[in-house]
Amino acid sequence: MTRWRYAAATDIGLVRQTNQDALYADDTLAIIADGMGGHAAGEVAAAMSIELVREGFRASQSVEGLVEAIQGANTAVVNDARETPEHFGMGTTIIAVGLTYDFEDVVVPTLVHVGDSRAYQLRDGALRQLSEDHSVAEEWVRMGRLTPEEAAVHPRRHQLTRGVGVEDTIAIDVASISAVVGDRLLLCSDGLSNELDGDTLARLASKPNGLEMAVESLVSAAKVAGGRDNISVILIEFDEVNVSATPIRRTMSTAPPPVVTNTRNSSGRRHGRWLTWRVGLVALIFAGVIAGGVAVIHWYAYSTYYLSTDGPTIAVYQGQPSGVLWYRPVMVYDTGLLATRLRPSDARLLAATISEPSVHAARRYAKSLNRAWHLSRPKPATTTTTTTLRGAPTTTTTVKKG
Ligand code: MN
Repeated sequence: MTRWRYAAATDIGLVRQTNQDALYADDTLAIIADGMGGHAAGEVAAAMSIELVREGFRASQSVEGLVEAIQGANTAVVNDARETPEHFGMGTTIIAVGLTYDFEDVVVPTLVHVGDSRAYQLRDGALRQLSEDHSVAEEWVRMGRLTPEEAAVHPRRHQLTRGVGVEDTIAIDVASISAVVGDRLLLCSDGLSNELDGDTLARLASKPNGLEMAVESLVSAAKVAGGRDNISVILIEFDEVNVSATPIRRTMSTAPPPVVTNTRNSSGRRHGRWLTWRVGLVALIFAGVIAGGVAVIHWYAYSTYYLSTDGPTIAVYQGQPSGVLWYRPVMVYDTGLLATRLRPSDARLLAATISEPSVHAARRYAKSLNRAWHLSRPKPATTTTTTTLRGAPTTTTTVKKG
């Protein structure tokens, strides 16, 4: 068996108007949730998540039960934030330790966590952090871009890379805790860990005069140090403990490995998702503008007709004589009228191109030019043609009509 005793406290601190932290502890489960979001939204996200994790764990006292409960809480918070405008942007951290049954039906402590609330293990007065903060600054420390000292004062130390209710998918850190009798676990929100350094945490959390006293001294020390955030603490001491035969340490994600991590800040924590659909919308509008522009150019390119020569005859072309971008004019109708049968002035006009609104109008105009040519000719003209047929010369006289 594994058995523990515990003490817990949450405090609004000295600066905040509301306490958006929430916690729960019993003989098999301990949870802290640090809610974030405007108005009372952070409290809603934290309370909702704690309730759902409790329910899920009651239904299945296993690693899967814990993980699925947090996944369920994530979905519930995301959906609630979508449906309730005042809840937009809310989210919460979750850190929980549950006594879970493993494959051999041995009850072992398992830690699950998302966000920057922390879990520490205390043994013989020494403190070891079990959880990794899912914050920009701490991720950068792990990547070697910042030293822990730089991260402690970095402006993005409070900016979370993961949280409950932030995205449709969630990645949860899961780890078996290997403890011995007398070990303590300290779960806390950042309102404690930001105010007190590791040595102070270790000293106060190891105090021998009962867990309640230790919890009280931790909370009051955080307030003395500034109390700038809500402070939540759960202190656990193992009276009896099993070690898992199959210890786990992994991140369980409902999404494929992320290529880009979503960052968020206090003003607009849904930056990532919001950005995604906004970029999509802009791309859509851009594509629409491009398509509209192409349509207008196409319309302009083929909106008029003009007359020009096509070899010996006059033809109607659709388009702009010199073309528009890649749109070249196309011949749509050949009038069959000879280009040589034009008055010199009309021939010049034709060369300068004559625009007409339709094929019919263009054809009519070509005919009128042809008629004008005939009318400008000397009246009935008499021509004499001499043809030679089979060597016999004959003379025919024809009268050519206009
Ligand atoms: Mn906090």
